[in-house]
Amino acid sequence: MKTRKLLMIPGPTPVVRSIQDQMGRETVAFGDPAFVKDFKELLEDLKVLFKSSGEVFVVAGTGTMGMEMAIANTTKKGDNILIVSHGFFGDRFIDLCKRKGLNADVLSSEWGEIVPVEKIKEKLSEKKYAAVTVTHVDTSTGVCAPIAEIGEMMKSFPETIYIVDGVCATAGEPEYVDDMGIDVLLTGSQKAFGVSPGLTMLWTSQKAMERRKSLGDIPEFYIDFEKWLPIMKDPSKYYATPAVNLVWALKESVRIMKEEGMENRYERHKKFARAMQSALETLGFRVLAKEGCRAVTLSNLVYPEGTDDAKFRGLLAEEGIMVAGGLAAYAGRMFRLGHMGNVDKHDLVSVIATIERALYRAGMPVEFGKGVGVLQKHLME
Ligand SMILES: *Cc1c(COP(=O)(O)O)cnc(C)c1O
Repeated sequence: MKTRKLLMIPGPTPVVRSIQDQMGRETVAFGDPAFVKDFKELLEDLKVLFKSSGEVFVVAGTGTMGMEMAIANTTKKGDNILIVSHGFFGDRFIDLCKRKGLNADVLSSEWGEIVPVEKIKEKLSEKKYAAVTVTHVDTSTGVCAPIAEIGEMMKSFPETIYIVDGVCATAGEPEYVDDMGIDVLLTGSQKAFGVSPGLTMLWTSQKAMERRKSLGDIPEFYIDFEKWLPIMKDPSKYYATPAVNLVWALKESVRIMKEEGMENRYERHKKFARAMQSALETLGFRVLAKEGCRAVTLSNLVYPEGTDDAKFRGLLAEEGIMVAGGLAAYAGRMFRLGHMGNVDKHDLVSVIATIERALYRAGMPVEFGKGVGVLQKHLME
């Protein structure tokens, strides 16, 4: 018999049945009144749940498109931009911004650590920056940036747009757009929202929209805020075809969030993450992110001495758990485990138990039930 596959990579994350069902529906015209109503309600809910009094955009594309959309609409060729990078996805902004013709300065941390807020402030004081980018959770390191604290500091720089990449954070890590002073929050559907890949979502402040306006016609066409804004105000209008079934799927994901409550959802992520991280440490793995800046949406786990990465992940896959490998310098030395979105306790227990079996099969020392025991204890706290 084939073992069921549990998708525990940091995106796409498991898509629950009720969300899958939305994607299996018969597709309707984008102007269908029932769909227009659904789309409108979804946009309204997204503003409320993430506490934004600005605009919200839902456009077909992936998280990377969201990154590009944020940059395209807030900067112009020749502008200075500050990139705060905690790993691979922070670095992704560098090439993106260079291609746009921006002068990019980069503040990087060691992998597993964060750039101190004080350092960002110092850098911003050196010259005028059109924008700053911060990756909320860098999926390559499992590091979580202090988004609220940076937002507070950014109040001293009213001419700089604060862009937050929330692709591996939004709907798992607390994000309150207005209160945290975020000008552009961007994310994708396939991570903590638990929807299949294919949608990018952005929230924008009034300041960001004013910046867009000041730029006049921008070189980008599909990702222009001004082209999409009329559709977000009235989804019966056409600019480019919305991903009808994905919009429904996202709406179902938002319904699940409303049912759970955002604060409960954030608490659940925190509890699950701490339980998983303790269990995995018990089994001999080291969490790459330092305490104090550990994400709750995923864990990046450095192998105990002598573990063969390909073998371990191969055995895990045979046992039905899909995880991701390490990136860059950590390729072969680490694996990445998502625990965000609509994962539940069944999934977690299964993951830890399966990791114990994979370690055993790989010939590593393991005491069956040790990791599971620690997990269970934390889950019951
Ligand atoms: C996954 C991810 C991206 C890229 O998203 P895609 O949907 O793969 O384009 C960008 N930033 C972060 C932090 C991510 O985790």
